[in-house]
Amino acid sequence: MIQQVRDALLSWYEKHGRHELPWRNTEDVYHIYLSEVMLQQTQVKRVMEEYYPRFLEKFPTLGALSLAKEEEVLALWSGLGYYSRARNLHATAKLCPNTLPKTQKELVKLPGIGRYTASAICSFAYHQRVGVVDTNIERVIKRFFAHHEQSDALIWQSAEEFVNPVYPTLHNQALMDLGSLVCTATNPKCGECPLEPACRGKEEAEFYTRRQKKVYEALELFYGIAVQEGKIALKISKGPMYKGMLELPAVEPIEEDFIAEFKHSYTKYRLTVKLYKLAEVQDDVLWFEKDALKDAHISSLTRKVLKYLEDIG
Ligand code: SF4
Repeated sequence: MIQQVRDALLSWYEKHGRHELPWRNTEDVYHIYLSEVMLQQTQVKRVMEEYYPRFLEKFPTLGALSLAKEEEVLALWSGLGYYSRARNLHATAKLCPNTLPKTQKELVKLPGIGRYTASAICSFAYHQRVGVVDTNIERVIKRFFAHHEQSDALIWQSAEEFVNPVYPTLHNQALMDLGSLVCTATNPKCGECPLEPACRGKEEAEFYTRRQKKVYEALELFYGIAVQEGKIALKISKGPMYKGMLELPAVEPIEEDFIAEFKHSYTKYRLTVKLYKLAEVQDDVLWFEKDALKDAHISSLTRKVLKYLEDIG
């Protein structure tokens, strides 16, 4: 029975899978690794259309990335957020400028590579018979095997056992797409699902959807604005959020210097950003003309402020 289900899954994938994704049309382990890192926390469309091709144009190989300066890498990452991903990617390229190791055991020793990324590399680049568990696959596995208990070990074990021994790569890609297109978090389309005849959890599919309420942290940030001869004052951030990036100098809020306030979201933070006139400029600020900031390593928050200043003239 299990082999029939695997075959049905592959037939479904052949017809309905997302074969156009560029990282599914390459054997290059670095390209596949890059896509996996970018896809964590970022939508497929944005990665595919913007960030992935732009990054590969600049750094087509691990070797090229290993020679890059950190600020160049971070500048290309600008807007994707979670900059530790870019730093880890860069650090891995420096450790492995030619290629990546071929076992999960070795891969998880590299910066930022956890069990999921290691298994995805082994499955998609090296075509090994390994299970892969991302959010979509986890949901399918939980429902299909009717795992009521929340046990990562059990889900990984089921994923390993379910892998098609002949076509492991296609099997994992198919499961990902099935979770994304059919076995969706709400309103799964069981009537269109190739796993339906053997699915043990279909009657109570909603039960297996993990409902985790996102917890956001509210923060207030106070920035100073100083402009001299058409140049704006920025600093290199030492803070945890935008470390190493250019940002406006932080200030103590003084009511009479208040300029404007706006909201901004960054990862788990909901920010209230308040801008003030900066009377005294510290020695460690750097002065930038607007045009020089186009390709600079700047946070989306600072870009928003610059745009706002431009709009109000
Ligand atoms: S039958 Fe329904 S619940 Fe089961 S795997 Fe398919 S879509 Fe998900």
